[in-house]
Amino acid sequence: MDEAAGRSRPVDFDTATAVHRKRRRPLRGEVVSALEKAVGPEHVLSGRTALEVYARDSWPLAALRLHHGAELPLPDVVVLPGGVAEVSAVLEILYEHEVPVIPYGGGSGVLGGTLPVSGGAVVDVKRLDRVLEINDEGLYVTAQAGILAVDLERALARVGLTLGHFPQSVDVASLGGLIATRSAGQFSTKYGNIEDMLLALEVVLPGGKVVRTRLAPRSSTGPDVKNLFLGSEGTLGIVTEASLRVHPRPEKRETQSYEVADFVKGLELIRRVMRTGLRPAVIRLYDPIETAHSFKGLASQGRCLLLFVFEGFGRLVDLEASAVDEICGPEAERQLGPEPGRHWLEHRNIVRALPEFMNQNLVVDTLEVAATWDRVADLYRTMTERMLKVKGIISASAHSSHSYTQGTNLYITFVALGPDLAAAERVYYEIWEAAMTACLEAGGTMCHHHGVGLHRTRWMPAEHGEALEVLRRLKEALDPKGLMNPGKLFGEVD
Ligand SMILES: Cc1cc2nc3c(=O)[nH]c(=O)nc-3n(C[C@H](O)[C@H](O)[C@H](O)COP(=O)(O)OP(=O)(O)OC[C@H]3O[C@@H](n4cnc5c(N)ncnc54)[C@H](O)[C@@H]3O)c2cc1C
Repeated sequence: MDEAAGRSRPVDFDTATAVHRKRRRPLRGEVVSALEKAVGPEHVLSGRTALEVYARDSWPLAALRLHHGAELPLPDVVVLPGGVAEVSAVLEILYEHEVPVIPYGGGSGVLGGTLPVSGGAVVDVKRLDRVLEINDEGLYVTAQAGILAVDLERALARVGLTLGHFPQSVDVASLGGLIATRSAGQFSTKYGNIEDMLLALEVVLPGGKVVRTRLAPRSSTGPDVKNLFLGSEGTLGIVTEASLRVHPRPEKRETQSYEVADFVKGLELIRRVMRTGLRPAVIRLYDPIETAHSFKGLASQGRCLLLFVFEGFGRLVDLEASAVDEICGPEAERQLGPEPGRHWLEHRNIVRALPEFMNQNLVVDTLEVAATWDRVADLYRTMTERMLKVKGIISASAHSSHSYTQGTNLYITFVALGPDLAAAERVYYEIWEAAMTACLEAGGTMCHHHGVGLHRTRWMPAEHGEALEVLRRLKEALDPKGLMNPGKLFGEVD
C-alpha cells in the first residue's frame, strides 16, 4: 500500500498489466497515418515481429515469462523519428490523440522500464545518432540522444578525448537511456556518474514543445532544469540531445590488487582510501563467492579480492598507486600485483546470457543499492541474510564497484531455483522483497544505478516517503494526461 500518498497501489507485473490492459484503447488509423506523414511510412512499424521485439527490454523477469511461454503486452505501434523536429511532431500527434508514449533507447534497461503495459507508441530515438560538436578547448561534447555509448566514446577517442563513462552495457545503451536512468560507469570513482558529466540537454515535452537548457560549467539560476530529466525514465519527456564534460585520454593506466580476509575489512580499506582524497578510476571489492567465480586461480579460496585501476596524468597515477599501497599493503593478506586488474579489464563486459540459466531452471538477477560508510557493512549482512532465508534461493553474492567519500554501492547477484513460471515468479518476487525491505530498513537507498522501471515502483513510497509527492506534482504538471511511460517510476495505477 502506498502509505506516503495513499492514492495508488504497489505495482508488480500482473497488477500493472491488468490495470493498464483495461485502459487500452485501439489505435485509430488516423493516428498511424499522421505518424507516417510525420516521419515517413518506413519509420512506423506495426507488424507483429516488430511489436514483439519492442515488447521487452533486458529485465530478467520479462525474459523468464517469455521463456515459459507467457505473453508480454505489445505496443500498438513503433515510431522511429529522425530528428528533434520529428520527435516533436510525433509527441504532438500522440498527445493530441491520447496515445501512451514509451521512449526507447537501447533496450538495455534491466527493470522493465520500456514495457508497454498500456500499449501505445514506442518512440525509438536510435536514428538520432550524431555527434554534433566536440569542443576540445571547452572539453565538452554535444551529441544526439540515440547514439550508443560505445560510438560516442569511439568518436571522442579519435580526437584524444574520453567521456570516461563505461557502463558494462556500453555497446548497447544509448546516451538518452543513460541520462534517463541515472547511469553509473565502471570508471565512476574518477570520472563521476552521468549526473556529474551532464552540462546541458534538449528535451521534447509531452505535447511536442522543445526545450533546451543553457550550456555552462555551472550556474546559479534556480532549480536545475536539466536535472529534472536525469533519472526521469521517459515519464516527463524525450531527451533528444545532450552536452557532456569530457577529459583528455589518460596518459597512463596501472592496476593493482590485494587479497583481504573478509568483505567488511575490504570495505574499510576503500573507506580509508576515499577519505584521503585519492581518486583511483576503479575500485572493486568482491566477496568470497564472486572472487572465486570471477578470478579463478588468481586469489585464494575464501578470500576477498580488492582491485584498483589508476589512470590519468602519469605522475599522478604513480603517486596514487603508491599511496593506495601504503594504506592497503600492510592490512591485506597478500599483494596480488597487476594480473587480477588486467584480467578484469579484459573480461569486464562479458556476461553470461540468461537462457543459459533459464535452461537449467535457474532464476538469476542482480540488484544494486548504496549506503553511507557507517551503514554499509550492516546493509551487506542484513540484505544477504534476509535474501538467503527465501525458500528456493541458492546463493546471494556481492561486490562493491562505485565508491564515494561518503559511502559505496553493493551490487548483489542472486541465483534461485524456479522449475516453472509460477515457482520462478514467486521466488523472484520474494527475494526482491526481502532485499529491498532489508535495504531500506538498514538505511540504504534501494537503487544505485539501474533505475526504477516497472519493477521497483512498488518500493518508491518507502524509498521517498513524503518527498514522492514532489515528484508526482512535477509529473502532473509536465504530463497532465499521464501518457508518458505509464506505470513506471511513480507507481500510479489507479
Ligand atoms: C549486461 C548489462 C550491463 C549493464 N551495466 C550497467 C552499468 O554498468 N551501469 C549502468 O548504469 N547500467 C547498466 N545496465 C543497465 C542499462 O544499460 C542502463 O540502464 C542504460 O542506461 C539503459 O540505456 P538504454 O538506452 O538501453 O535505455 P532503455 O532500456 O531503452 O530505456 C531505459 C529507460 O530510459 C527511458 N529512455 C530511453 N531513452 C530515452 C530518451 N531519449 N529520453 C527519455 N527517456 C528515455 C526509457 O523509457 C526507459 O524508461 C546494464 C544492463 C545490462 C543488460
